[in-house]
Amino acid sequence: MIVMKFGGTSVMDAAAIDRTAQIVRGRLSRRPAVVVSAMSKVTDALLAAGKAAGEGKREQALELARGLRERHHKTAKELVTPEQYAVLGAELDREFDMLDELLKGIVAVGELSPRSSDYVVSYGERLNSRVVTEAYKARGIPAILVDARTVMITDAQHGRAIPLDDEIEHRAKNLVRPLLEDGKVPVMGGFIGATHDGVQTTIGRGGSDFSAALMGSGLDAEAIEIWTDVDGMMTTDPRICPEARRIRVISFEEAAELAYFGAKVLHPATVLPAVQKNIPVLVLNSLNPSNEGTLIVARAPRSKSTFKAIAAKKRITIVDVVAARMLGAHGFLKAIFDVFDKHHCSIDVVSTSEVSVSLTVDSNEAIPAIAADLEKIADVKYAGRNAIVCLVGENIRETPQIAARVFTALGEINVRMISQGASEINITFVIDEDDVPEAIRRLHRAFFTEVDPEVFD
Ligand code: ASP
Ligand code: MG
Repeated sequence: MIVMKFGGTSVMDAAAIDRTAQIVRGRLSRRPAVVVSAMSKVTDALLAAGKAAGEGKREQALELARGLRERHHKTAKELVTPEQYAVLGAELDREFDMLDELLKGIVAVGELSPRSSDYVVSYGERLNSRVVTEAYKARGIPAILVDARTVMITDAQHGRAIPLDDEIEHRAKNLVRPLLEDGKVPVMGGFIGATHDGVQTTIGRGGSDFSAALMGSGLDAEAIEIWTDVDGMMTTDPRICPEARRIRVISFEEAAELAYFGAKVLHPATVLPAVQKNIPVLVLNSLNPSNEGTLIVARAPRSKSTFKAIAAKKRITIVDVVAARMLGAHGFLKAIFDVFDKHHCSIDVVSTSEVSVSLTVDSNEAIPAIAADLEKIADVKYAGRNAIVCLVGENIRETPQIAARVFTALGEINVRMISQGASEINITFVIDEDDVPEAIRRLHRAFFTEVDPEVFD
């Protein structure tokens, strides 16, 4: 069996849901279980409604709910038969009436608790999974709704609840597998779950990928397909470098390195349950279903190409700390890190010598205060408008003279910091923000002009 997960943009309206039905129909012989997100932007709207209610803005909260009610009705009506709609439409009204009551209750209490917020936000996936189930039935797919609250059992940390893997596996095998064996196509909302006591929870923004991975892992799926609206992962940002290529196969570790740089296709941590069981995860495009997408696997196959991708992150500040008197003394780095810690500021790249340390952080308002604290122990300079550029690839380990080739490709572009990650699968350096497009183009030309056709499109 396989798990097919459709993200918000893949189910954003009737036409999109219809496309997913065609895609699912084409894979019935592989026995799919489907996980769906809320329609795009619905989660944001529900969060906003809950927040407005918590602030006593009753009309604003109800207006947002009204918009969502209309959107779900319109979508449902376009997708299902009049007979189905007679039931589904009434169900949607019942649910949205309850949402209204809930929002009014929050207004009355004058506070949005994390528990209520999860309840409000759960409507997105709960209702869309119903709409999608009926839409599939109307298209001859033997779909059956699975209430996520009966399978995705979590702890009670509302907003970011931790799924209980063993319990989920047990329930997937007992509740979902029999449906598959019966020839049905189970459809479940992602992102939402419940505690053992049945209290509604959510597992963090973007959590539907996580739900799909948990379902796939629980059912020992042959593959997990993450359907989104791009052709998988690319070697670099095609807006900067039109020669960017699609990556056919990437390892989990490589994908994880890239996630930090906002390769926002999916957050690899969310598919870890699948990767740990060696279940291949595919990123596919519901707008271009014949494209092969990107395959994420536990171990990347041997390849002739050193790198998989080049990523960049702007809005980086470099902080230089120099303290000659610290020569030979211990505790210097700790003292510095303590300052950043105190300001809840996370450090990304570090390079050190005996008496100096350079660090990078995301540019933020706390930096002057951090610098002032550091001044107490050392001389400090900081400069914003920098960027981290990172080349990722498991073959870096085996490639000699790789740094030399990277810096030759960069030519006269000024490199301010260098770090070859401990993971040995990235080379990271810091340059002026304005140099990013040119640096990326040069590196791409140097390392991706002739590539392994097994790994790149
Ligand atoms: N609908 C949820 C969100 O927008 C979960 C998801 O789409 O993965 O965060
Ligand atoms: Mg997503």
